[in-house]
Amino acid sequence: MNAEQKWIHECALAAKVRYHKFELEFVQILKDVERSKTHKALDKSSVHAYAVEILGFTDAVAYSFIAVARKSREIPEILKSGLSVFVLNRMVSTLNTENASELIQYAQTHSSRELERELGRRNPRSKCERVKFISEECVEISAHVSVSFLEKLKRVEALRAQKNQPQGVGCALESALEEYLRKHDPVQKAERARRREAKAHSMAREEGRHREQTRPNEQARPNEQARPSEPARRAENEERSKTAERKPGELCARRVGKRVPLTAAQRHAVFARDSGRCTHLDKVGQRCGSDQWIQVHHIIEVARGGSNDPQNLTTLCSFHHDQIHQLHFPMERWG
Ligand SMILES: [Zn+2]
Ligand SMILES: [Zn+2]
Repeated sequence: MNAEQKWIHECALAAKVRYHKFELEFVQILKDVERSKTHKALDKSSVHAYAVEILGFTDAVAYSFIAVARKSREIPEILKSGLSVFVLNRMVSTLNTENASELIQYAQTHSSRELERELGRRNPRSKCERVKFISEECVEISAHVSVSFLEKLKRVEALRAQKNQPQGVGCALESALEEYLRKHDPVQKAERARRREAKAHSMAREEGRHREQTRPNEQARPNEQARPSEPARRAENEERSKTAERKPGELCARRVGKRVPLTAAQRHAVFARDSGRCTHLDKVGQRCGSDQWIQVHHIIEVARGGSNDPQNLTTLCSFHHDQIHQLHFPMERWG
């Protein structure tokens, strides 16, 4: 090793010490953020959202730091171990107060591959549910599943084979997931409802045109007109109810304080417009966009005469829904 190489190596070792110090500083900060609920004061629903959206961490880095920060509350010595957050994050699910000092010592004296093997031996579940990116469009997922899961998967594969559909675990799982989303995803349901409605409207128009063409010279008398078909009538009724003039406050006055369940059409309209995501905007106008625990919120409260009109509805995650009600209507029920 020449003098320059020796100097570079010494710089690398010194930088590693500084890097490690910064990592620990961030772990400590995230612990404080969670304890003091600083993220909530900044309008973020979780410490993770705070780390990603405000500190600019990637998802994976934020998860690692938060996992280590939480573990360090139970086992403070992990922060004095000299191990990186990357290594500590691997150990989090296996570490407990009994094995902490032994496992930390093992990690300090072995390579990361050896540590991985040791963790797998001690806690087979620590390897479960891992997602690894193989390419931009392909991921490898490893997860622990039950035997009954495997039986169901085989059954789906068999049914797909009968229909000459592409084979493989990935295809079978994807078709099962699509089926679930088709049944339960409010955004997909709303999109289907919109397509049905558009079809009914175009059929009604088509039928109207057809009637005009087949009776060109007849004086149409109102009570002798051909009875419109079901989709045509439905479309006409909808059109009429949209254009019908409603006295201001009529509906609201009748239903003040009464909670009327949303119709499927109202739910569909809100979910389709808001993409089934939280619409809350923070102080700088950034949308929360969470798709977890989504609830429908009345912009003007039902108790104050707010209606179920989609204009008066919006989708919020439970955190922001709670926040809005705490802020504006602390004594009232959600809605
Ligand atoms: Zn609400
Ligand atoms: Zn939200």
